[in-house]
Amino acid sequence: MVEAKRKQKILIADDSEMNRSILADMLEDEYEIMEVENGVQAVAAIDKYGVDLSLLLLDIVMPEMDGFGVLKVMNDHKWIEDLPVIMISAENSPAYIDRAYEMGATDFIVRPFNEMVVRRRVVNTILLYAKQKKLMGMVADQIYEKEQSSNMMIDILSHIVEFRNGESGWHVRHVHTLTELLLEHLIQKTDRYEISQKDISTISMASALHDIGKIAIDEKILNKPGRFTDEEFTIMKTHSAIGGDLLRDLPLYQDEPLVKRAYEICRWHHERYDGRGYPDGLKGDEIPISAQIVALADVYDALTSERCYKKAIPHEEAVQMILDGQCGTFNPLLMECLTDIADQLPTELKQGIPEESNRRSFYNAAQEILHHTELTASERTLQLLEKEREKYSFFAAMSKEIQFEYNVSPCILTLTPWSAQKLSTNEILVEPRKSDSVKEILGLDNWQVLSQKLRATSRENPVITHDCKISYQGEQRWSRIIAHATWSPEEPHEYQGAIGKVIDIHDTRLKLDVLEQLATHDRMTGLLNHASAKEQIIGRMAQEPESAYALVIFDLDHFKMANDTYGHIFGDEVLKHTAEKLRQSIRGVDIAARVGGDEFLLFLEYREELQPIIERIFHALTGRYEDFDISISMGVAEAEMVGTDYETLFHCADQALYTVKRSGRGHYRFYDDTMDKMLSVISPIDEGNEEA
Ligand code: GH3
Ligand code: MG
Repeated sequence: MVEAKRKQKILIADDSEMNRSILADMLEDEYEIMEVENGVQAVAAIDKYGVDLSLLLLDIVMPEMDGFGVLKVMNDHKWIEDLPVIMISAENSPAYIDRAYEMGATDFIVRPFNEMVVRRRVVNTILLYAKQKKLMGMVADQIYEKEQSSNMMIDILSHIVEFRNGESGWHVRHVHTLTELLLEHLIQKTDRYEISQKDISTISMASALHDIGKIAIDEKILNKPGRFTDEEFTIMKTHSAIGGDLLRDLPLYQDEPLVKRAYEICRWHHERYDGRGYPDGLKGDEIPISAQIVALADVYDALTSERCYKKAIPHEEAVQMILDGQCGTFNPLLMECLTDIADQLPTELKQGIPEESNRRSFYNAAQEILHHTELTASERTLQLLEKEREKYSFFAAMSKEIQFEYNVSPCILTLTPWSAQKLSTNEILVEPRKSDSVKEILGLDNWQVLSQKLRATSRENPVITHDCKISYQGEQRWSRIIAHATWSPEEPHEYQGAIGKVIDIHDTRLKLDVLEQLATHDRMTGLLNHASAKEQIIGRMAQEPESAYALVIFDLDHFKMANDTYGHIFGDEVLKHTAEKLRQSIRGVDIAARVGGDEFLLFLEYREELQPIIERIFHALTGRYEDFDISISMGVAEAEMVGTDYETLFHCADQALYTVKRSGRGHYRFYDDTMDKMLSVISPIDEGNEEA
């Protein structure tokens, strides 16, 4: 049977019921929520539920005890290591945020918050801590297993020594426990000795070896029930130096911390703080702290145990004897430690070395290792990055702009959640040029242009723009894409991708289009006006000067009559009809314009013969419109003959047209240079007709 997964517990500490309720609403589907309304209650809840809690959401300003107060208590009790804290507050000054992080908060969310952001950070934080705890557990297990076997060997070895000494068999264990307790207490009191959790474990373990030198002492002396003679005492005293020598002469492991500590302890655990110990008469802190502590532990246990030469002395009496200096002088700091822990000694020693405390010390050691590795720093960085990302996507959503990030390798296009929703596509598009979404939204041509433009940037000039139509759920809208290419900072600079946004320019663009249309086109016929036609023609001839061009100008014959007979509106219709005919009879690349009144212009590029083209167009334009016969006069000038200067071309076509008008209308003529002479002789021509 599958057991239902127990929900993880989140503690919310906030004095505002409204705030608690908002958070609870957001999270209670996935988590079990507990609520408290001030710092004191928060501390009580953490104390009570401890490891059962997965996260604390902590307000800053609260009655009784504020959020910083709670953090302080959590630090004092080292709870902060086990329970992640996310501060949620309307206070957003950097000083507050900094302080919260300094005090061990995992994250800081500023009110008012975005629901998604809170949910995501809560999930992230809980996952991160779970991961870290698991990691810590694994490391602790490894250390535990490794040390467990060494411990066993040391236990066996020291048992042999004890057995030979006729000691209780508990002496080594007691010294181990005492050493550990004294060390734990010492590091809380002072940081004078720079002792880490790992050191505590090593020193405690090494303490078991303090008497190994005794294996070189004659059994008769070791087990002598009465007082030693001076000579015997001298021999007995050699055990510390011998123990040291044994370790120093080990062929291997000289660099092992355990061996180093064991050497200190063996050689100097009979030294005294006032310099009156043996074998070297070291004084004060010349004696390594490991040896100072084991010395004290050894003395205490020797006093309180029964030996072949003495009875056991009761605990209180033993402590008093030590404090009175009856067993030599010890470091005053250690005396203080002994006094502080004196009350708990009898129970602790009865228990021996409890499995749990052992596990705990390995866990502490593991934590220490993890805290001193890069891991912690980079996790913090990751969190900061995640924070930045959240902030960025929040503002991105607020800005209601389409924002994207493009990465070349691996080739990924990332959209902000808002953008993806707006374009109804995914937030992450892998291999965008192959993606149907990109094809639909942007089109492959635009994708290619954009890619080319971005690749053509440099680190100095990284910004590009591209205007194109983008499909918003089927609706095509003019958009401007502004992108900033990213280049690797190290030489040679490599193009890595881009960040950018899309601005909707649809309405502006349409207005501009209308304005442009108005500025460049004739309103009535929709053909180009003369000015813009001229601009285009000049441009074309400059671009491709080798091609053959012709400029055609034509004018309706007796158009005034149409106006006069059928009215102006009818006249307009004739003009529109003519424009339409003109449009139909030319190719897209030709340029047609209304010069003004009933005069039109046509610019042609041609390959073979020009005459048949002119003939065709001329006939297309001539014909009946309702009751009016449309007749035109047309003049043609070829660039081949007169050159590509626009003014000249225009003038020549106009001369040809004029010639037609003068010679009966209703036909077309190609310009030739005889026309200039002719026109200069008889001018103005056909005056009567012109001004009819
Ligand atoms: P010609 O054969 O010599 O060209 O005689 P025409 O009657 O066509 O006279 P001309 O080309 O000199 O004058 C064009 C006339 O077209 C003048 C004006 O009354 C008329 N016109 C000019 N612009 C418009 C317009 O926008 N709409 C209308 N209905 N008539 C126009
Ligand atoms: Mg006319």
